[in-house]
Amino acid sequence: MYDILVVGGGPAGLTAALYAARAGKSVAVLEQAAPGGQIINAPLVENYPALPHVSGADFAEALQNQAEALGVELLYEEAVRAEKIGPGFRVTTDGGAHDCRALVLAPGVRHRCLGLEGEEELTGNGLSYCAVCDGAFYAGKDVAVVGGGDTALQDALFLAGLCRSVRVLVRRDRFRGEALRARQLMARENVTVLFQTTVEGLERDGAGNLRGLVLRREGRETALPVEGLFLAVGQEPNTAAFAPLVELDGDGYILAGEDTATGVPGVFAAGDARQKAVRQLATAVGDGAAAALAACRWLD
Ligand code: NAP
Repeated sequence: MYDILVVGGGPAGLTAALYAARAGKSVAVLEQAAPGGQIINAPLVENYPALPHVSGADFAEALQNQAEALGVELLYEEAVRAEKIGPGFRVTTDGGAHDCRALVLAPGVRHRCLGLEGEEELTGNGLSYCAVCDGAFYAGKDVAVVGGGDTALQDALFLAGLCRSVRVLVRRDRFRGEALRARQLMARENVTVLFQTTVEGLERDGAGNLRGLVLRREGRETALPVEGLFLAVGQEPNTAAFAPLVELDGDGYILAGEDTATGVPGVFAAGDARQKAVRQLATAVGDGAAAALAACRWLD
């Protein structure tokens, strides 16, 4: 039985784990994919205090190393259920079950889809949700990015350095993301931003690869030939496994305040999957620290 089990090895979960380990608790982190969470997809993080230029992957690796050096155990398993068992909790995974005295839920979020016909089949054949992973396949080509948030801005800036042209398709008349990044993007010569534009269809060539988009703009449909489409239209929380244990809001985010305490004593929620106003690397790390210290106080 662990003192503290952390679900999710992103910045929030790994920070919670390292704080708990430094407080002398036995800690394990359940991670279904690679440690680091969404930040590993960020080519460059420029707004984290005291680290003016760091790649998301380097940040994640350093955080993982720091946690493991403190004795944190990383378990590569997917949590499928969490429940109260006696005085503690049990998390069932695809590889077994783990018991703990206190539970920190930091499962993060996953990308949202557009729901267009062919979206699934085209994923990996012209359609991507990760510019930093797949951008190199589109070097010198014409691509489009859908979305107006920070992820879309970040992805479009990254792709502008690789691709011949980048069209940014924003459904509203303005960006949702940071103004400084939006200005940097608008200044790039090979970037065109189309506001009030939605994607209505995906066109495939004979080999099943993306060859173009059907756009709706000012009430009219137009065709846009592109070889790559990057979707950055927001996220959904990975919280279905925890719904029976903790309360979620209508969008599936875990209800917990800035102190990270859920309605269940001994269960804390940290990071992007918590209902909150600001989802940034800095706030994820802050959540992780708060959750670990709250869990330690609860245990002691
Ligand atoms: P987001 O902020 O939720 O933005 C999603 C974007 O996609 C919005 O422009 C939204 O339009 C658009 N959208 C949603 N559904 C759409 C649809 N069906 N069709 C077309 N467009 C659609 O998501 P995000 O950019 O992934 O960011 C998530 C969180 O992470 C945010 O809190 C963000 O600040 C943070 N983040 C921070 C950084 C950083 O370095 N500071 C980097 C990446 C992400 P509307 O505006 O009309 O809703």
